[in-house]
Amino acid sequence: MATLKSKANPLEPHFFDDVSQFFDHAAQFTSHSHGLLDQIKVCNSVYRFRFPIRRGDNIEVVDAWRVEHSHHKSPTKGGIRYSEMVNEDEVMALAALMTYKCAIVNVPFGGAKGGIKINPKNYSVAELETITRRYTVELIKKNFIGPGIDVPAPDYGTGEREMSWIADTYLTMNPGQLDALGSVTGKPISLHGIDGRRAATGRGVAIAIRECVDIAEDMEELGFSTGLEGKRVIVQGLGNVGYHTAKVLIEFGATIVGICEYDGALYNPDGMDPDEIIEHRKNNGTILGFKKAQKEFRLPAEGLEQDCDILVPAALENQITEENVGRIKAKIIAEGANGPTTPGAEAIFVEKGGIIIPDMYCNAGGVTVSYFEWLKNLSHVAFGRMDKRYEELANLNLVNTVESITGQSLSAAQRKTIIKGASELELVNSGLEDTMIRSYHEIREILKGNRKIDTLRTAAFVSSIDKIAVSYQNMGIWP
Ligand code: GLU
Repeated sequence: MATLKSKANPLEPHFFDDVSQFFDHAAQFTSHSHGLLDQIKVCNSVYRFRFPIRRGDNIEVVDAWRVEHSHHKSPTKGGIRYSEMVNEDEVMALAALMTYKCAIVNVPFGGAKGGIKINPKNYSVAELETITRRYTVELIKKNFIGPGIDVPAPDYGTGEREMSWIADTYLTMNPGQLDALGSVTGKPISLHGIDGRRAATGRGVAIAIRECVDIAEDMEELGFSTGLEGKRVIVQGLGNVGYHTAKVLIEFGATIVGICEYDGALYNPDGMDPDEIIEHRKNNGTILGFKKAQKEFRLPAEGLEQDCDILVPAALENQITEENVGRIKAKIIAEGANGPTTPGAEAIFVEKGGIIIPDMYCNAGGVTVSYFEWLKNLSHVAFGRMDKRYEELANLNLVNTVESITGQSLSAAQRKTIIKGASELELVNSGLEDTMIRSYHEIREILKGNRKIDTLRTAAFVSSIDKIAVSYQNMGIWP
């Protein structure tokens, strides 16, 4: 690990390089040929396009990308990002991470990512709709979207609204295509989305952290007790991922001591409620000035360096670098965002004994539930619709029989809990939880099984490289 160093000039785009460095480092612990490793690592298709939109009396040219990183499985899958910072290097890196992410959690997709270089805050809703629909049309023209081809989803700067525009455009251009709704996930429930998708990434991050802190042997090494009760957490980003991570962590017993946003950071060792902070920002236009914070920082990055046990970067890439990692107090970093820690920073953090729960596993809850949504769209039926009542009837029969045999009766509350059939949300959350728990232990076992493997990230890469290699071998491409 000590050999990993972030690129010399941090001002140049280096995200894809960072991902490739992590990949190369892990590849030495696999037994695949250079050719196969190269094929896994490169981006298969990079589509860069520009299109005009009308703004007032002017024409503005919009820059956009869609990158399909790996076709070892179809469709490819990954979000679409709207941000002024979007560039080709970033979209390629994010697409690559999607490939590894899907492999780790056994979601049968290749990786992809899209990006539009705009700051959505500078555009009206009507303009955003025009941009999104035009972007979709451009993808359709080049066969870069479809339920069996490439399936977008939300990412930084996009959400259910954008996904419904994409779905509607795709449906309009593909009349009669029975599976057309499977062309995009993260849709609103009213447009055949799935219950639980919005919170899925954050819920997955929280489950990943809970799994990590429940292992006594690993916590002893950090000088921590097991469990989330009383653990102090700083979350960077109160967007969809950060917000839901914070909410579920509180549900699991943790204390949110810090929140960092683009307009500043807040800290209170006794804990803060993310809903109250959001309400405060709604009324005041900034998170600063929140009365229940003991300290506030105008420089958001300072918030990351405050006292805590766990740090959750859930905003953007390149946040924890060789420059600031020495000042991070947390002993666990759980990567809610993609690529928040550079290779050099990770080397320093892990050398000091810290644990990083890597992005490609930690934030995989989103794509996991996207997979469930895609399955729902292809099967044209909501989860639980066929069996919920049947299950309830079977449970009722069982309870009645047990009561009549034993002569004892359950309370109304007990009956209700036992009899109830599973709702779609319960099934989704159960599938998500199982996926996150299984995958954590799969990665950890790889880490513990080879003394030379230094981090959970390396182990996660080894796991996904091996799985992707098997897919290629199954295709008969690589004997
Ligand atoms: N954008 C999310 C991610 O980075 C979700 C992707 C998806 O659901 O396809 O994992």
